[in-house]
Amino acid sequence: MTGHGADDAEEESGFDPGKRLVTPPIHPLPPLRDVIARHGLSANRALGQNFLFDLNLTGRIARSAGPLDAGSIIEIGPGPGGLTRALLDHGAREVIVIERDRRFQPILAEIAAAYPGRLHIIDGDALKVDAAKLGQAPRRIVANLPYNVATPLLLAWLDSGTAFTSLTLMFQKEVADRLIAKPRTKDYGRLSIATQWRAEVKRLFDVPPRAFTPPPKVTSTVVQLIPRAEPLYPADAEMLEKVAAAAFGQRRKMLRQSLRQVSPQAEEVLVATGIAPTARGEELSIEEFCKLARAFKARRAPGAATAPL
Ligand code: SAM
Repeated sequence: MTGHGADDAEEESGFDPGKRLVTPPIHPLPPLRDVIARHGLSANRALGQNFLFDLNLTGRIARSAGPLDAGSIIEIGPGPGGLTRALLDHGAREVIVIERDRRFQPILAEIAAAYPGRLHIIDGDALKVDAAKLGQAPRRIVANLPYNVATPLLLAWLDSGTAFTSLTLMFQKEVADRLIAKPRTKDYGRLSIATQWRAEVKRLFDVPPRAFTPPPKVTSTVVQLIPRAEPLYPADAEMLEKVAAAAFGQRRKMLRQSLRQVSPQAEEVLVATGIAPTARGEELSIEEFCKLARAFKARRAPGAATAPL
């Protein structure tokens, strides 16, 4: 067995160990590939399992997650723990992981033993855990997210306001493109508005499929979100979502038509807010969407589009 140190770094990625090992583990850990082989594990695609073994990459994600030495780092879906080890190696004071696949519990327990008192493991479904109540502030979420639940998890965390100091997350590139999209682009839509209204969003870097085991079909992107102390403009969150859902549900239609789902007086509301009734949703800024949400709310508009993002 090789120790989890300079030899592994060279063997797995050629990474400069001098930059990586801030706080070495008490017990050396073997390379991840050996751990997985020893436990006879394979990836379960239904749980979105694409693992990162490259120490260079996990180190880069850990470093970009911001200062790790205060509060709690919350990691969703640690799997065999590649990113978890990087977070601990880079000096995380406390890492709390939530993993749904029980097969990884023994491996995660080995990591916890190597970093005494610094890794806490929650055996469960991240969709059912209120991460805002875990650990202590400043809380930072870091994850190579399971793709099938990435969007609902993000929206739930954004609902928690400033409970999280930052979220450093790996998404499928096409989802990341939607998170950061600006008006008048093909990717701009409900997810862009819901996200940018509540957080500053920044693309950090892309990760090619070959960096994962097994490789997914698409490129991934690491994104950083910093929740805003207050949403960008005042609006009722539910009404804003209804207006965006109606506007983008029928993307090619003019707003005077698509927003009739929100209220039969849609055209009147558009004129009153100074927005051209012939405009399309993708032409409106987030400020204009918020203006519309306030105007519809003031008229207590009934009914709405309800499809998930
Ligand atoms: N962090 C590891 C890495 O980077 O190599 C694994 C990332 S893999 C893309 C996603 C992980 O999330 C898997 O370990 C999977 O079992 C776990 N997972 C999937 N759905 C989950 C859920 N609802 N709650 C918690 N973990 C989940």
